[in-house]
Amino acid sequence: MSTIFGPVHSRRFGVSLGIDLSASTKQCNFDCLYCELSPALAITTQHSITPIDTIIDDLTAALQTHPKIDVITLTANGEPTMYPYLDELVTRINELKGNCELLILSNSACLSDEKVFNTLLQLDQVKLSLDAAIPKTFKKIDRPAEGIDIHSIIDAIRRFSLIFTGKLFIEILFVRGVNDSLEDIAALNKALLDIHCDRIDIGTVDRPPAYAVEGLEFNELYTLSQLFDPTLPIHIVSRTHASAHPNSYSAEEILTTLDKRPLTQDDIEALFDTKSQHCFKKLLSEGKITPIERSNVIFYLPTQNIHRKAPKRGSFS
Ligand code: SF4
Repeated sequence: MSTIFGPVHSRRFGVSLGIDLSASTKQCNFDCLYCELSPALAITTQHSITPIDTIIDDLTAALQTHPKIDVITLTANGEPTMYPYLDELVTRINELKGNCELLILSNSACLSDEKVFNTLLQLDQVKLSLDAAIPKTFKKIDRPAEGIDIHSIIDAIRRFSLIFTGKLFIEILFVRGVNDSLEDIAALNKALLDIHCDRIDIGTVDRPPAYAVEGLEFNELYTLSQLFDPTLPIHIVSRTHASAHPNSYSAEEILTTLDKRPLTQDDIEALFDTKSQHCFKKLLSEGKITPIERSNVIFYLPTQNIHRKAPKRGSFS
């Protein structure tokens, strides 16, 4: 079985060639309720290990067939940072990747291991999951292996965010009735305010989950996004945009809404009815709304808001 898949086109990351660091079986230190893979006991070490040379040979061949790639993505049927030769693999990919960027999609659990921490510093882009900041909720949603502590993970993400020079994305996946309480949002908000990242992607269950859990509707995610501090660069990522119920907004309401939470084109199409979308376009053409790019995603903000707030990395201002 090849360790390479794709290319796939992702709005968030561009054209990506994926590397599966656990191609034969699921090997993960979490057993998340929402996992797209089958349930499996959380483990802390990989027992089925793909040789590095196999991965490099597969990647070299795939890059010859698909030369126009934006990112090479390290992922797994499980957690890619559990791959024992990750450091050497990253070094070798960096030598052959040319203009492509190297990205990893991680659940963050191994970041408190200094070796993994230092390896991830060598990547161009890192996506770290953070589904909960309260220990009880973390255990309920991510079902981690024994000994994995959410406070150590948050501290490692915070430290990493201070020195990482690439693009850092945080991802939160919401499950109805599990990590969406006001208490959970307040704890996540507090943790995120200390993390310097380029974007915070919030999403929900939109593929068949490992366990019987439910996702949120787009409008619910949107309401929830407004509970976070408005300076946080939150981006709603959800295939449930289509299930939204568009509302009518006046010009002033549009500006106030964007002031509270910058929106993407997908959000605008989901939230605004046709008349409001025309009004939005008029405000844009009059320069009252400004588009800004945050790592491949365009957000719209009131122009006044951009000038009003002081610059700070990791926020919209
Ligand atoms: S971290 Fe990813 S692979 Fe592991 S259980 Fe959670 S969703 Fe599945």
